[in-house]
Order: sequence, then structure tokens, then C-alpha cells
Amino acid sequence: MSTPVILWLRRDLRLTDHPALVAAAASGPVIPIFIRDAAVDRLGAAAKWRLGEALRVFGARLADEGSRLILRRGNALDVLREVIAETGAEAVHWSRLYDPDAIERNTDVKSALKDAGITVESHAGHLLFEPWTVETKAGDPYKVYSPYWRAVAERDPGAPLSAPTLKAPRDWPDSDDLADWELGAAMNRGAEVLARYSDPGEKAAQTRLGVFIRDKVAHYKQARDMVAEDGTSGMSEYLTYGEISPRSLWAAGQRAMDEGKAGAETFLKEVVWREFAYHLMYHFPRIVDRNWREEWDGFPWKDDERLAEVKAWKQARTGVPFVDAALREMYVTGRMHNRARMIVASYLTKHCMIHWRVGQQWFEDCLTDWDPASNAMGWQWVAGSGPDAAPYFRIFNPETQAEKFDPEGDYRDRWVAEGQDDPPETARDYFAAIPRAWKMDMHGNYPDTPIVGLKEGRDAALDAYQNRPNAGED
Ligand code: FAD
Repeated sequence: MSTPVILWLRRDLRLTDHPALVAAAASGPVIPIFIRDAAVDRLGAAAKWRLGEALRVFGARLADEGSRLILRRGNALDVLREVIAETGAEAVHWSRLYDPDAIERNTDVKSALKDAGITVESHAGHLLFEPWTVETKAGDPYKVYSPYWRAVAERDPGAPLSAPTLKAPRDWPDSDDLADWELGAAMNRGAEVLARYSDPGEKAAQTRLGVFIRDKVAHYKQARDMVAEDGTSGMSEYLTYGEISPRSLWAAGQRAMDEGKAGAETFLKEVVWREFAYHLMYHFPRIVDRNWREEWDGFPWKDDERLAEVKAWKQARTGVPFVDAALREMYVTGRMHNRARMIVASYLTKHCMIHWRVGQQWFEDCLTDWDPASNAMGWQWVAGSGPDAAPYFRIFNPETQAEKFDPEGDYRDRWVAEGQDDPPETARDYFAAIPRAWKMDMHGNYPDTPIVGLKEGRDAALDAYQNRPNAGED
């Protein structure tokens, strides 16, 4: 029991409901380690910044428990070998990840360490249900959400685990200093703005979930689409870094259902959309970067980053206020309302006829809740190329969407400063966050006409759809 055990952390920066941590703590003093490897370096600017925040808060949390967060940089296998040699650890535990790169890396690390006589145990924790445990009657993976939901709705993922007591090793290995990693560097001046809209860490996550379940879940079904309201749980960012477990959401949602709170089932269904995204990514990894439906490969989407439509969309000056408000919300806060995500994605892939990969990558760079599975599924769902996707000919009209989901224009006023005598801080913050090179000025003119008109874009998109190659195969 005195031989230390390594806990390799990635997207599981919490103490509560952490099966890998519980297993590690049961077998010896725990050395929690986070490795800055190529997977971390590949993260988008906002996600990398937010990861730094998560590590800062979690490091302090571990210190409160008499433990430490060891930070190292390099190839994961090399670093683990070094730390094993330095500490005499005989076992490594981690929580599973499911994106294709992570699966490949985990498999390689696992077999190399096992060959060296090290015990390696991977654990659940990032999902409610392991993707291979849910299958159709024919033994296949699900491709459609509703039957997937029915298959898991009555399942019990188990109760969340309490945080274990952590025993410190006799000697701690050296750690890098988090500040030296400069994880926020790519955000430039935007980092300071983002920080004002972020509340990282496990305790913040638990508090926010508690308030949501107490005050908001009852109205969630109606409120979740109203873009100016704070009517959703705000859990996505915490789930991304594992500051809260999906099982904690599930347990809280189930309790709310038992208390008869309307909206609780809708909330659980949304949590299961995340599960479904992981189910799809695990079974069909091509969803991450290729049309899930191959017959869409010949669709005439444009993907030249230099196109005026791409530039206007990314810089949030398309001239369509709802679209621009949403893109600015993302740039300032690192998050975007779900309804707004669908609208900006539809405008880009349909009205502007730009490839969904362009938008997917921009989200990857700007979202603090960036998630490989949900982002890929979300984009392909809107674009029409994914499983169980919205049909391509369903083209959101941003104006009618705004009338329905932002009837007073509060959301647009909150984020689009131009034209307002005294714009709110949120709208001003956009100009404090964006690169100066964009040469945008809050007192400047807002485009008179959309970069692609709503009728003209819709007609062109429908025309392309009707005349698409491989028509009839989807
Ligand atoms: P709530 O409404 O409170 O929902 C609770 C939880 O359910 C969320 O935290 C999330 O984990 C899950 N959930 C809700 N809606 C969805 C959904 N449509 N798909 C998958 N899971 C869902 N979500 C991400 O976490 N990361 C992404 O990178 C991401 N990219 C997206 C891209 C597009 C184009 C679209 C249309 C959606 C994307 N989503 C993504 C899904 C969704 O927009 C967010 O999960 C949601 O807005 C998060 O807010 P919330 O936590 O308040 O959600």
C-alpha cells in the first residue's frame, strides 16, 4: 500500500465521481499527473486557455486535500515511463477517452506499459454508458437518436461516487509550473475578456448544477430555446474538462423527475444527446472530419478560407444580426446558445454554401466547451451530412428564428453594439477581445445588407441540393 500509483488525468479534473481516482486511491498513494502532449498542443485557442484555468483550479483543490497536481510536458508514454522510474510506481490508472486519436494513443501507451510489467487500468467516467454497451437488437450501433434514447432511458448508470481520501506519496516527482505553459497565449488580449465570463472548477460546476435543478429545470423545456434567457444548465464546459461527471447530471435530473419537475426529462434527453454523439464517434470515427454520409462528398460546398463570406462569418459581420450576435457571444464568452449554434451553422453551410468543416474548425478554436463528438455531430446534423441529420432542405431563416426565440431583440442588443447609443458591456467586450488586425470599430457601420441575402442564399442552396451529385442515395 505504500507503492505509489499514477493517475493520468486528461478530461477528468474533479474529485467527485471519479472511478479512476477511486481505484487508484484504493491501491496506494496517488500521484495525479497531467501531461502536456501533442493532443493538448492541438487544442484550439479558447479550449487551451480554458484547460489552463481548469488545471489551475484543480491543482489548488488537490493541494487542499494534501495532494498535488504534477505537470509534465512531452510524449505521454515517455513522460509516464520517466515518472514511473522516478517514483517506483507500479500502476497507472486513467479515465477513457473516445476520439480516434485518443484511442490510438491509449492503446499504444497501455501495451507498452504492460510489456514493461506495469499494471494499467482504464476506467469509465467521461460518459454515462460505454459506447460498446449500447446496441440495437441486431447487435449494431445506433444511428438514430430516438431509439438510442429509448435504449438507455431506463438504464441505471449507477450512483455518483464520493471523493476518496488521498494519501500522498513519500516523495513527489518534480512538476512544471503552470504559468510557464502559457496555455492562454494564443488568445492574446481575448483571454482577459474570456476570464470575466468563466467560472472554472468542480465546485463552481456543482453550485451551478444545484441552482439549475432548484430554480430552472422546471421551465427548461420552454426556456431552453430562448436565446436571451439563462435557461439552460451551462454544464457543457464543465463536462468538457471533466469538472463534473455526466453521472452527477443524470442523478440530479432523475431526482428532479422524481420530484415531478417538468423539464427534467427534457434535460436528461439533452444529456443523452452528448452520449449519442460519443456513441457515433466511437463506432463511426469518420464523423469527426468527413461527411458521415459518403454521398455528400461531391456536394459543391466551398471551403476557401479567403472567401468574403467566410471572413464575414468569422468576424461576425455578416449583416444578419442574429447570426452576428451569436458569433460574438462565442468570441466573448467561449460558449454559444444551442439554438444560435444551429442558426449560425445553417447560415454558413446553406445560405453561404461553405463546407461545415470550416465552421467546425472555427468553433474548435473559439469554444471553451469544445467537444470532439458534440461539435462534429452538431455540424453534420445541421449540414445534412450526418446520421439522423436535419434534412438539407430544412434551412433556418435567421429572421423568423429571431422573431420566435429573441422576440424583444434582447440577445441581439446584448451582443451587437453597432447602432446602439449606449451598448451594453457584453457588446463592447467583443471589440476588446477581437484582434486589432480585423480593424473593426464599435462606432463603425454595421453592414446595410447581409453578405448573402436570406432569399437568394436559400434559393441557391436548394438549387445546389436538387442538382447535387449522388442525389437519391441519401
Ligand atoms: P443544456 O441545454 O443545459 O444541456 C445539458 C447538457 O446536454 C449539455 O451540457 C450537453 O452536454 C448536452 N447537450 C445539450 N444539447 C446537446 C446537443 N445538441 N448535442 C450534444 N450534447 C448536447 N456541445 C458541446 O459540449 N461542445 C461542442 O463543441 C458543441 N458544438 C456544437 C456545434 C453545433 C453546430 C451544434 C448545433 C451544437 C453543438 N453542441 C456542442 C451542443 C450544444 O449546443 C451544447 O452542448 C449546449 O449549448 C451547451 O449548453 P448547456 O450546457 O447549457 O446545455
